[in-house]
Amino acid sequence: MQEGDNMRDMNYFVDEMSNAREIFWTNPLVLDRKNIKQDGIQDDNLNAKDVDEAEGRLIRFAPYIERVFPETKCRRGMIESPLVEIPKMKEYLETEGEKICGDLYLKCDSHLPISGSVKARGGIYEVLKYAEELAVSEGLLSYDDDYSILAEDKFKKFFSGYSVAVGSTGNLGMSIGIISAKLGFKVTVHMSHDAKEWKKDVLKKAGVNICEYAGDYEKAVAEGRKLALADPRCHFVDDENSIDLFLGYAVAGRRLARQLKEQNISVSEECPLYVYIPCGVGGAPGGIAFGLKDEFGDNVHIYFAEPVQAPAMTLGLVTGKFENISATDIGLSGLTEADGLAVSRPSALVSPIMAKMLEGCFTVQDERLYPYLSNLGDLENLWIEPSACAAFPGPELVTNNLECHGHQDYNPTHIIWATGGSAVPEDVMKEYYKKGKN
Ligand SMILES: *Cc1c(COP(=O)(O)O)cnc(C)c1O
Repeated sequence: MQEGDNMRDMNYFVDEMSNAREIFWTNPLVLDRKNIKQDGIQDDNLNAKDVDEAEGRLIRFAPYIERVFPETKCRRGMIESPLVEIPKMKEYLETEGEKICGDLYLKCDSHLPISGSVKARGGIYEVLKYAEELAVSEGLLSYDDDYSILAEDKFKKFFSGYSVAVGSTGNLGMSIGIISAKLGFKVTVHMSHDAKEWKKDVLKKAGVNICEYAGDYEKAVAEGRKLALADPRCHFVDDENSIDLFLGYAVAGRRLARQLKEQNISVSEECPLYVYIPCGVGGAPGGIAFGLKDEFGDNVHIYFAEPVQAPAMTLGLVTGKFENISATDIGLSGLTEADGLAVSRPSALVSPIMAKMLEGCFTVQDERLYPYLSNLGDLENLWIEPSACAAFPGPELVTNNLECHGHQDYNPTHIIWATGGSAVPEDVMKEYYKKGKN
């Protein structure tokens, strides 16, 4: 592609975005395969070894997790979610749009134990790592111990001399809050004022301090960071820049590879994976994308989904400006009912990595989220939150660009990554459902 074409395309997409119209953008860097080695992950600073280390750490902690969160017993302390086929939802999507080539699955991080969202991957991992570092350097713990001893009072007392803080729109705060309080840390969650009431209630019950800020999410994070950095016994979980969060999410790649094998779903050039993940700052979907590329290389194609008013990563990638441009710079509000995605500026750590491996991005209007939610509930009895529904347009958008027809052996698997939902109280979910039915 010529320079001039790229520029014209960029202007077109930015213009559409600034008018809050839905777009489907394909990453020209990844399209033009000569430019880029797609075969596996290839970031300069992070690699498969880092993901191994994260996976190993989660295995060490499994006996502790199993002991203090009994709902993880069936998976022996692994915080993992089911992968389920959703054929009726596929039919529904096809009656609304066009035929989808291949099978449709839902990765139910909406039902991850402990906090009911994708944040139970990275968020919990980062706090476990901090706890391990403290306990090991104090000589209280060694790597080959049975980590279930961490549930003992001696450790709780030790951790109570330290604190953890995070800025969050909600789900990250829930994951960090619950695991930190369980270990014995003092924990503070810095929230924007518009965070959902029920999430604040859950946190208060778990013994978490909540600081609310009048401004938006970015401001809550900035204030939280400032306070935490002034205290050497406080660990700040930095949603916008944390490598630990990223690696905790990345472990999902290996876990998914195992699940696909168990379910006899093959992944190859003829049977590629298409994965669609709702995106906020990009940490969770970015880490997952990194882990998936590590496992499947060119045979996985990953797309991020964002609300039309908060297309943080899409805008950063389309313009190549990454974290140096915000949705508000092009006249958007940054506000959306998909509260997990209400972010205007993408992660500085993640956006350049995604520029090299993401197949594309698309945006979706808020009012489309609720019908997806209610139909998934009615047809598959799976209940997920509005943010987690942003990825549903993906399979059709991609199918329109695929040359499936006439290729008998071509059988893609589409995976919608459901990022949250099971922690939503029943009455709140009923309200969402009603909106979908209207
Ligand atoms: C946090 C979150 C996301 C996106 O994760 P980021 O790391 O912010 O990109 C998507 N869906 C839900 C439900 C979330 O809570």
